[in-house]
Amino acid sequence: MTSAITTREKPLPPSWKDSNTHHRNGAARFVAIDGEGITLPDNEHRYVLLRVGTSEPLENPNGLHFREIFPYLYSHYQRGTAFVGFYLGYDFTQWLRTLPASKARALLTKEGIAKRRRYIRNGSVEPLPVECAGWQFDILSGRRFRLRPKICYCPISLCKCKPKPPWMYICDAGGFFQTSFLVAINPKKWPRPILTAEEFALIQRGKEMRSTAELDDDMRFYNRLENDVMSRLMDRTDEGIRALGVALSPKQWFSPAQAAQVWMRGRAPTRETLAETVPGWFLEAARAGFIAGWFEIFIHGPVSGITYQYDINSAYPSVAKSLPCLLHGEYSRGLGKPKNPPALTMVKADVTVPKNETTRYIGAMMHRFPDGRIARPIFTGGWYWLHELEAAQRAGLCRVRRWVKWCGYEPCDCPPPLAELETLYEERLKQGKNTPLGRGARLVYNCVYGKLAQSIGQPEFMNFVYASLITAGCRIQILNAIATHPGGKSCVAQIATDAVYFLSPHPSLPISNKLGEWDVTEHSNITLFKPGVYWDDEARKMITAGDTPQFKARGVSARDMAARLADIDRQFDDLSEPPPLHLNSFGKPTKTETEFWPSTSFTPGFQMVSAREALNRGDWSLAGTLMDRPVTQNSWPGLKRQEAYYDGKMLRSEPRRHFGVEAWDLGENGAGGDFARSVPYTGNAVLTDDDDTTEEYGITPDGMVDQIVIDAMMPDRKWTPDVQK
Ligand SMILES: [Zn+2]
Ligand SMILES: [Zn+2]
Repeated sequence: MTSAITTREKPLPPSWKDSNTHHRNGAARFVAIDGEGITLPDNEHRYVLLRVGTSEPLENPNGLHFREIFPYLYSHYQRGTAFVGFYLGYDFTQWLRTLPASKARALLTKEGIAKRRRYIRNGSVEPLPVECAGWQFDILSGRRFRLRPKICYCPISLCKCKPKPPWMYICDAGGFFQTSFLVAINPKKWPRPILTAEEFALIQRGKEMRSTAELDDDMRFYNRLENDVMSRLMDRTDEGIRALGVALSPKQWFSPAQAAQVWMRGRAPTRETLAETVPGWFLEAARAGFIAGWFEIFIHGPVSGITYQYDINSAYPSVAKSLPCLLHGEYSRGLGKPKNPPALTMVKADVTVPKNETTRYIGAMMHRFPDGRIARPIFTGGWYWLHELEAAQRAGLCRVRRWVKWCGYEPCDCPPPLAELETLYEERLKQGKNTPLGRGARLVYNCVYGKLAQSIGQPEFMNFVYASLITAGCRIQILNAIATHPGGKSCVAQIATDAVYFLSPHPSLPISNKLGEWDVTEHSNITLFKPGVYWDDEARKMITAGDTPQFKARGVSARDMAARLADIDRQFDDLSEPPPLHLNSFGKPTKTETEFWPSTSFTPGFQMVSAREALNRGDWSLAGTLMDRPVTQNSWPGLKRQEAYYDGKMLRSEPRRHFGVEAWDLGENGAGGDFARSVPYTGNAVLTDDDDTTEEYGITPDGMVDQIVIDAMMPDRKWTPDVQK
């Protein structure tokens, strides 16, 4: 069966510099918001000082109440001003902890938010605010707080009384930097520093002293300086993205994806246009087959000698720049195996590893379990892009057991809508990657994928054809690298989305700084702890020296961390036999097997129960109080791998056979087969399991505790493209 789609008017691609000129208002200025706490000898934590910008602070040695905080914040409202903070999770919790529990539940729980949701013609709009003590307020995905006084006594928040005062939006801008404040402002990282070396030393000292801080002039001085420097940092960030023709309004500074969204206007097709133009069955197949990043280790623990890490330069933008227009061209579909497949074809197929394979290193294709976790098992089935399936076949990973059906797209000859991503990338190289424009360009091109894969909120550019082509395109490059490596799949130590780690050098990958080509890093004596978490001699040296800014600020002692990494290395060396890694027939670990795998536990210096976590635990009075819960990092790889064994000195494992379906038959119509197939993407699952941090272990003024621990284990950790906070 074939159905042709009639063509629409071709959109004119805008030039990258003069677009969005009609939105050139943006934020007139940036005012930073930050608060400070003290911890009493009995471990009671009090939030005692709050300051907007460099104005007079609000202080209360007994701890600030929301009835003081809300009027203080709102008294600084000014039209056109963007109010921002650097990781405000700690401050938000402290502002809210004095609210009645019922209001907190309405504000923060899933059920509370669902009750406040409302819909207007074209999808959802902001939910109704929560009301308390003469104030209306709301919080968006933990990153943007809005506040205004209520002017009347109506029992509902949707009344018609006028004039309603404007909303004051307070954005957590930490996501624009993806690093600690000290790293973001470090004068050595800016061609034109935003602060002097003396100021930097003062802020560094303030952070070191924080655990013993008192409400005194030192605290006031440090807090004011930090706000001042934060507003300079934001000015420079704004300068960078404005140079790309992108202006963000005061309410948009909670996510760098907002910058990508503005940039995409007039370039990428909107969700609405897609829904009108592209057949529903094609969109559905793309969504079902969408899988985000591929994170997997194939060797566990120490690998002696050199390991070669090959990274694709800006992998996602390098695929996105060539995506076809989708609005014209021909869509078709059929059953079984496609005979003359269109240029872009998806197939629904059941797959497994090659016949007579004696050693299994890597699974057949990506697979999503019902809980949203991703693995690459020996058997699976689902929707795949045909060119990814073929790349997996070339790499010797996969054979098709059954072709179920297919759908395809033969593109038009329009220029690729996102071709200018390459211009952004080149402009960044030309101007310097640490310049404001270089940083702004990177923010925009790194976040385009996140807007395409976004399915909650108001996803203007949700596009699973693009999103799944981007992640598949990245995996295809990795698979091609495996196929062309002389040692093939047996030489792969780790895959981390856009990076592949080989045990020996790859002879032919193009190494350059060009978009989509490769960068190589050599690691000596790497230890692979879990997917995306590893260290080598260089990292051991950096941690022992303890001179990276992360450490001192984050309640993690560098010396302690170095000792722990050495201890994990030793635990691997001391294993007398492969630790157990057998799943029971329901895909769950055998009860205690995680205990046999090397692990480590930390008790961080500062852990505060977040507002949301307090509600999760059913005790609102815990919000904003200190907790004491060790963070355990375990190397058990059973979600993705099973059957560990030694290959010389290296500890290896096999890909997972989920549900133990070894002799596996789907039946003619797939009846019962979906049991073993990959679960279609629904939009509720986490986008990547690299980003599985939770608030369970508490929050700090520098972010979430478990994230900080991972950052401390990997001092040179880079920002992977999937992480979209
Ligand atoms: Zn009213
Ligand atoms: Zn076209």
